[in-house]
Amino acid sequence: MTTASWSGTNEPEHFVQFCETDAFLVNSLSEFIGTALRQGDAGIVIATQSHRESLEERLKVDGLEVAAARVSGQYVSIDAAATLSKFMVDGSPDPERFAEVIGSIITRTAKGRCHVRIFGELVALLWADGKRAAALLLEELWNDLARTYSFSLFCAYPMQGFGGEVYEEEFTEICQQHSRVIPAESYTALASPDERLRVITLLQQKANSLEVEIAERKVAEEALKETEARLRFITESMPQKIFTAQPNGAIDYFNPQWTEFTGLSFEEIRGWGWTQLIHPDDVEENIRSWQRSIDTGEPFYFEHRFRGADGVYRWHVTRAIPMRDAQGKIVTWIGSNTDIDEQKRLEERKDEFINMASHELKTPVTSLKGFTQVLQSRFKKRGDGETLRFLTIMDTQLNKLTKLINDLLDVSKMQHGKLDYREDLFDLNALVQEIVGNLQAGTSTHQLLIDGTTEVQVYGDRDRIGQVLINLLTNAIKYSPKADMVIVHISKDQENAIVSVQDFGIGIAAAHHGQIFERFYQVTDAEGKAYSGLGMGLYICAEIIKRHHGRIWVESTKDHGSTFSFTLPLREGKEGSFH
Ligand code: ADP
Repeated sequence: MTTASWSGTNEPEHFVQFCETDAFLVNSLSEFIGTALRQGDAGIVIATQSHRESLEERLKVDGLEVAAARVSGQYVSIDAAATLSKFMVDGSPDPERFAEVIGSIITRTAKGRCHVRIFGELVALLWADGKRAAALLLEELWNDLARTYSFSLFCAYPMQGFGGEVYEEEFTEICQQHSRVIPAESYTALASPDERLRVITLLQQKANSLEVEIAERKVAEEALKETEARLRFITESMPQKIFTAQPNGAIDYFNPQWTEFTGLSFEEIRGWGWTQLIHPDDVEENIRSWQRSIDTGEPFYFEHRFRGADGVYRWHVTRAIPMRDAQGKIVTWIGSNTDIDEQKRLEERKDEFINMASHELKTPVTSLKGFTQVLQSRFKKRGDGETLRFLTIMDTQLNKLTKLINDLLDVSKMQHGKLDYREDLFDLNALVQEIVGNLQAGTSTHQLLIDGTTEVQVYGDRDRIGQVLINLLTNAIKYSPKADMVIVHISKDQENAIVSVQDFGIGIAAAHHGQIFERFYQVTDAEGKAYSGLGMGLYICAEIIKRHHGRIWVESTKDHGSTFSFTLPLREGKEGSFH
């Protein structure tokens, strides 16, 4: 249907034109109204101001006397919104008022003229405003009005107002309300029937593929909803507390276990609000550690106390890992908080017991040691060689027992940060020689060699560093029963003095290197089990070196010996600042 085929008709009808552009609308409209004016018929335009202005300009260009037609009453142009307001009641067109308002305009304009042509944009305005039911009702009212008055009505809707599947039904209804439906310009502008057939075929294909796509999308949406529901169920039903955080660290989800435990709403603890629940002694380090993970993307692990709704703090371990997109950028953090309070309390009780037991053991052992020495001197005087030998064995065992008790006490003190350090400048070289000399005196199986020297003074606790050396050397001897040599290397670089204890014994598999310095950690493979010990020595060494701002590490492979090394910073020595 081209504009030419309808613009000439004088039969009363109600047709609709869909438009893609304003220019096309004005073009059609100028033909429709222009024809009326040329024929001496009435022309009524109820449109937006901009459409009315564009139309009049166009009519003038086409050589029509618009002003004169207006004066004579042949041409009436009124504002659509203002007209709407005259008959709309509670968001819907009132039938009586509509008939009255529009009817009177038609009566006035039709007087003495054969035909009336109306362009109405009222429905299009309602549609654009989202009042779709009102627009459809208004179309019906126009049809009712056509039973009383004779006129041709031209309605126009912008095509872009019909995007989306939801409009399909209403679109069909709008078409049904009109005696004629004129497609938008991408179709009507085509000249030949052949071209139009092609376009229709293309549109059919497009409609078909869109329908298929919509169906597929619905299935995908359903699947997504199901996955979401399942994930929600998991996070909400598991006993652990779960959270997620934005890449900047602000928490954006807590599962219900969280709000249940804290008695606070999500709003109160979201973002960084959760920090109010952390024990004051843990909060600073907690935030620092979380920030470090956010900055570096490294997994977060932290043990801290959270305050529950009853005001009681409970120990938790919090873990969080980053989830990344295909480019490796962090999109979210996913974390859990596990209640480890009972475990912690048990550990505390165990620590307390160890502390108490070792204190209780210390007094009798000290007294045993004292009396052994008294007996040793008595039997020496008497020249009783055999008893003296027994007493020496007893003394050695007592020394071992004393060392064990002292280690237990040290570990216990370290747990509470109560180990005393006496700091001073000392000659590292001399200390190594002294310790090696003393140990060599009691060792016949291994030769203890010193390789290298440092002419440096280091600042720290001489006895504690000596304790580290003794622990490393006794381990080296203990764990290399088939070897006959242990080497102590001493060197320095720009910042540190470095001491390494190398043995040629059973070695340690790489899997244990990370944990070997942990409290009570022992290698428990068949070979490791053959050696007695409590797994305290390396923990004590690591704590002492850490306290001196040094580093301790192991290089070892199973069956190929081990080298334990530690550094002591030289800088601290010069400045005299130890902590
Ligand atoms: P302990 O020797 O009393 O068990 P340590 O803390 O000193 O405790 O050592 C922890 C564990 O590390 C030991 O049980 C042993 O398995 C391993 N280890 C330590 N030093 C050596 C070494 N020089 N060679 C092989 N294994 C070692």
